[in-house]
Amino acid sequence: MESKAEMTALMDKGLLQTTELYEYLLETSVYPREAESLKELRALTTSHPWGPMATAPDAGQFMALMLKLINAKKTIEIGVFTGYSLLLTALTIPDDGKITAIDVDRSAYEIGLPVIEKVGMKHKINFIESEALPVLDQLLKDPENRGTFDFVFVDADKENYKNYHERVLELLKRGGVVIYDNTLWGGTVAMPEHLAPVRVMGTRSDAIEFNKYLAADARVQISQVPLGDGITICRRL
Ligand code: SAH
Ligand code: CA
Repeated sequence: MESKAEMTALMDKGLLQTTELYEYLLETSVYPREAESLKELRALTTSHPWGPMATAPDAGQFMALMLKLINAKKTIEIGVFTGYSLLLTALTIPDDGKITAIDVDRSAYEIGLPVIEKVGMKHKINFIESEALPVLDQLLKDPENRGTFDFVFVDADKENYKNYHERVLELLKRGGVVIYDNTLWGGTVAMPEHLAPVRVMGTRSDAIEFNKYLAADARVQISQVPLGDGITICRRL
């Protein structure tokens, strides 16, 4: 994990050319439409040492649009942290929608939980404190779960993205969508190796490998978008 200063430096302009341009995008199109509860949760998260890890609000806005476009109701989130993307999903899906939310660390989730409760979204969330892989395997044991999920957001340990992908494809229905976060890893995927900060090296190579893997995967339609830290949207064919 990089230090907070390093993470902030990597994230403060997103992947755009300048901090001003990123600010422009946020101030013009994102913040004016961001729900108050999301702003509140974002503010609570800023004080966390790993605060910059939270989903970028511009990527979040795109995700909400995608959730609506596909009428997502039954979803999975891998990597909750303090709950920005989780609350965003809960606010977007219908009242009887359900999110299976998985994270190894419940304490970060508890930072955002009071906001989630305050806006009446808790009933849509089944939070499971666990490594994600065994939970996905458990879900797959029940044939009733296969091919039934509308949407999955993957935002956890990058070295497992391939393993998640194989399981997620079996859980998603045809036409269902999975979004992977941080697929451009601060832009380092395109840096010559000797210029990439040493501390991001492991994840940088995971991202490079995963991007190639998705590009070659005929089971999905994909689009990689430079919002936030880079997201790749995959639609199950
Ligand atoms: N989506 C979140 C950010 C997630 S940060 C938001 O919008 O704020 C990544 C999260 O993945 C961390 O909370 C970390 O605890 C979790 N994580 C890391 N490895 C994991 C694993 N193997 N299984 C489940 N969660 C994991
Ligand atoms: Ca992320």
